[in-house]
Order: sequence, then structure tokens, then C-alpha cells
Amino acid sequence: MTDLNRIELHLHLEGAAPPSFIGGLAKEKKVDIARAFDVQGGYAFGDFAQFLKVYEVATSVLSTPEDYYRLTLAVLEEQAEQGILYTETFLAPDFCGKGDVSAWREYLAAMQEAADQAEAQFGTILRGIVTAVRHFGPDQAKDTALCAAETAGDWIVGFGLAGDERMGQKRDFAWSFDLAREAGLRLTAHAGEWGGPASVRDALDHLRVERIGHGVQAIDDPALVERLVEDGITLEVCPGSNVALGVYGAWNGHPIQKLRDAGVKVTVSTDDPPFFHTSMTDEYDHLAETFGWQDDDFRAINMTAAQSAFCDAVTRERLIKKLEPTDD
Ligand SMILES: [Zn+2]
Repeated sequence: MTDLNRIELHLHLEGAAPPSFIGGLAKEKKVDIARAFDVQGGYAFGDFAQFLKVYEVATSVLSTPEDYYRLTLAVLEEQAEQGILYTETFLAPDFCGKGDVSAWREYLAAMQEAADQAEAQFGTILRGIVTAVRHFGPDQAKDTALCAAETAGDWIVGFGLAGDERMGQKRDFAWSFDLAREAGLRLTAHAGEWGGPASVRDALDHLRVERIGHGVQAIDDPALVERLVEDGITLEVCPGSNVALGVYGAWNGHPIQKLRDAGVKVTVSTDDPPFFHTSMTDEYDHLAETFGWQDDDFRAINMTAAQSAFCDAVTRERLIKKLEPTDD
């Protein structure tokens, strides 16, 4: 196993489900989801529309707290294999108990139990970010924010917004973000992936987030880039996801290096890795190949991630210590 020294801040739990795990669960439940897979047994992948369809079919087999217990274990085993020491994952009460607080608590307990077990077994640490799904609308997001506020603590450390960026306005979700902030949660929102620089500004102005999921399209607006630097906003950049979905045509056209050169706090994550046929190792290989990143660059990126993580101070110190270069 690789030394655990990578940090991932942007990972959707269901989106990280290994295809073999989902295939096995479907078989147990006697549901036919063969259309979600390609001939190699990976998830079928074409364009954004097909990704959404395959994602929906594959995740439809996850329906109980026990399923989420097993999912969490399977994902963390994979994280450890990818050398990932610490992960923050997006969790949606919409999919875990349909936004009902007591049902959500049961799913959460199952995931936390799996996370404790995985940390002891593989060494990888997990924390959760409760996430509202944008295309379910602002009213449903309020239920999600209530779930988040009720379970905020050392393990549920953040609140976020994911889902279809083209639906609704960011400001419609301000109430939910205010509630989460008052509950002591740290905030992030997907923006600037499909939306342009204005979507990133909206997230900063209306949701007052300290991290942006993706945010890469900020590069088209120099004043916004400057604001990101001045305000110390961290971007959860997922280059392989962007290339797979065609946000950028190729790795050498991806703005991660330019953002970094401009002084923006940049981190690297995988988003929904098996769905995009990527992994953290693949991301690092591409970054090394395309931009010439070396060990020091990766250490710097991971240090930024440790400093931008939503965990408590003691956990952060553990991460930072692990990343500091040793003499031997
Ligand atoms: Zn995402």
C-alpha cells in the first residue's frame, strides 16, 4: 500500500462507489442494472447526460443504512489504496432518509461506524459534509440544512450545495446556508464548473462560503481571481472530472496551473472517480505529466488541503505533521 499522504476534500460518497460493490449489491437485491456497466465491468461512460443516467441507475440500489455502512467501508478501502490519508465526503440526506431528521440519524450512525472501523483498519480518516441537492429546490434544501444543523459536530463538519448548477439561483439557498453557519458548520458550494465566473461570485456573496467546489471557470475573470486570492478562498479542483465531462477538452487546457500561479489556494480531488474512470493516482500522474508537478508541488497542494479542511484543530495538526518532510 502507498504511504497515506494525500488529502481529498471533494468526493461524493455515492459517486465513489466501486462498480464491483454496486454490481454485487444489485445481484443480492435481484435488480438488473447491467445497463450501468461497460464490458470491462466499469461504469458505462459517454457524455454528461449519460453520466447522470448511469449514476442514477447505479445508486438506485443503495437504500438502507446497512447499504451505506457497506458503501462507506468499500469507499474507504479504495481511498487507502490511493494513498489518501483524509477525505471529506458529500452526504445527501435527500438520499439517506429523504430529508427526515431521525431517518438521517440512522444512516449517519451507520456511516460513522464504518468510518471508525475503516480508520482503525486502513488508516484513512473520513469527515462528512451534508449537502443540499440544488435541483431539488430551496425548500427541500431547508430540510437538508435542518438535518445538518441537528447533527453538526466533530464528524459532520460542513454544509454544501451540489447538483445541477443550471437550476435556480444561489441566493435562494441563503436561508439554508445561514442556518448551517449558525450551527457552526463550515461552508462550500459547487460553482464555476458549468457556470461562469458569476456563479462563483454568487456563491461568495449570497452563501458566504469559504471553499468552492470546482470554481475553475473563475479563471476567465481576473478581478474574481484576485478576490479569491485576497479572501483566501480554497478551490476544490477536480481536473479529471472536468476533462471527462468536457468542461475542458484536454488536460493541457485545464486552468489548474494558471490558478495556482495566480496565488489561488488550489487542491486536487476526484469528485466521482469510478464514474469518470479516474483515481487520485491517475490525477497525480496527469498533473505530473502535463504541468511537470513534482513531489514538492504535491506536498504543497496537500498542505493547502490540510489547512482548508473543515476538521477540528487536533485532526488538522495530525494531517500537517504527516505532510511535513522528514529527514530520513
Ligand atoms: Zn462534485
